[in-house]
Amino acid sequence: MDAVLQRTQRLRLAPDLSALTPGEHAAVRELLAAGERLNRIYMQQRHAQAIPAADYLAHHPELAKQRDLFWMNIGPIATTLDNTREPFLTVEAETPAKNMYPPGTTQAIMDAFLAAHPERRADILDDRTVVWAANAANLQRALRTLDRYPALETLHPGLRARLRAQQTYLSVPYSVAYAEDLYFVAARLNAAADDVATADAAFARYLRLRARDLLADDYEGGDAAWITGRFTGHLNAQIGAYETYDDSLYGVKTFFALSLLVRDQARSSELNGALEDIQRVEDALPYDHHRRVRSDIPVGVYNIIADFGQARGTNTATILPNEAYLAQQYGRTILMRGNILLNDEIFAETERAFAAAVVDDQAHDLTPEGGFYRTLWHEIGHYCGVNVTSDGRDLDAALQDSADLYEEMKADLVSLTSARILHDRGRLTDAQLRAIYASGVRRVLQKNQPRRDQPYQTMQLMQWNWFLDKGALSFENGRLRIHYDRYPAAVESLLREVLAIQYNGDRNAANAFVTRWTQWRPDVHEVIAQRMRQAERTRFSLVTYAALDDTAH
Ligand SMILES: [Zn+2]
Repeated sequence: MDAVLQRTQRLRLAPDLSALTPGEHAAVRELLAAGERLNRIYMQQRHAQAIPAADYLAHHPELAKQRDLFWMNIGPIATTLDNTREPFLTVEAETPAKNMYPPGTTQAIMDAFLAAHPERRADILDDRTVVWAANAANLQRALRTLDRYPALETLHPGLRARLRAQQTYLSVPYSVAYAEDLYFVAARLNAAADDVATADAAFARYLRLRARDLLADDYEGGDAAWITGRFTGHLNAQIGAYETYDDSLYGVKTFFALSLLVRDQARSSELNGALEDIQRVEDALPYDHHRRVRSDIPVGVYNIIADFGQARGTNTATILPNEAYLAQQYGRTILMRGNILLNDEIFAETERAFAAAVVDDQAHDLTPEGGFYRTLWHEIGHYCGVNVTSDGRDLDAALQDSADLYEEMKADLVSLTSARILHDRGRLTDAQLRAIYASGVRRVLQKNQPRRDQPYQTMQLMQWNWFLDKGALSFENGRLRIHYDRYPAAVESLLREVLAIQYNGDRNAANAFVTRWTQWRPDVHEVIAQRMRQAERTRFSLVTYAALDDTAH
């Protein structure tokens, strides 16, 4: 615990809320209460003993270190300095099944079941069901929930009969598995909607739809209102289960989050200007199946009021929803988190690592602005390129545990491509382009050999190796030199591979490419990693929120 906490940077987020109306302040209180409850579901999704552990800590105020670790990790398992996942309370070790599949479920077991029962694939791998063992107690629990909350049966026609018929595994919709909590959250969202109904009608309509979505496990209504609505107030919020990063078994189960945000009006307006070039970026990507990309992407810069569940931490930006059919029909909303992206303490730590890894005359190539634009175009990059396979499958379904990794790598490489195009069009100076490229290099350097279940770190290592192979980076006396002139071609050739893998949708080929490009050499990667580790003052972040001052943090 001491080793981790000594390397933990404490960030306190206290955005200016003085512009909020009294109604918005009231809505903030409701949404914070909703967030606390979604945070609790998130704990439960990741570890079967997380709630008892949280309750134990609540009754033991002397366990301050454990409480800090629990807050950071949202559960009793911490990431260590060696990048392993270890319990710091007396609980079971973490498994890939987390608490979303029956204890002891491995991919081999589930693959065998799905091979024998292909008709169960859709419900078992559904993004918003928990998989329970199909025993009498579990079936009764699900059916009793339907008795207690009849609306759930209305919103899931035929669910009772399906549950009764399921053998071996029950696929229990989140609204049934977490019914009590989600009813509480829905009530808070409806109350927040009342608070802003007159001043920000579109935001209120979104909140009401999202309340219903949570009980239906179908987010289309709320997503449509969220993405295309013109919110006229100061608030925005990501609410619900979206991201699949925590599902290490299949990468399909979504985990709950709530992110409450206040808009930065000036920066948001500036960004909308840059979007005129998005079709030009799409058309320049190295593949043959270009599509029409909308240029009215709802993108905004926000400051975080508070984050809960999967959204907590130092996430720099969000783009949602992920499902291809929703993105095609409504687009995707992009939320840039200004008070993380431009945070001085975070930048200082990033720069220390970069300066340790590269040759001295390139040590100051990084700027906070470079990181901001690279991240912005990473998010826009999710709008571009392949979004379904050649035979029409969702990328998540086709590539499964490698889907996130390829999607993120695509977005990184589209970002670097768009920087080149914006520079060619005179919208970025040479210095700005260099800073964006430097940020692209910083992003891929790792302090530890990634675990295969870490999609971001894994795809970053793949880029690192590709850039070395293509001469965009070279290894000189224990440091890296960036060859900025070779960088665009290296980006393009890797992006061509990534787009082809996504388009073909062949999971085995995707995994083979990952294996081929994730080598970790003691005489190269480990040397750089060690230099970066030695320059490091902090590895982890413990983020606290002024808005939650009356709670444990
Ligand atoms: Zn991304």
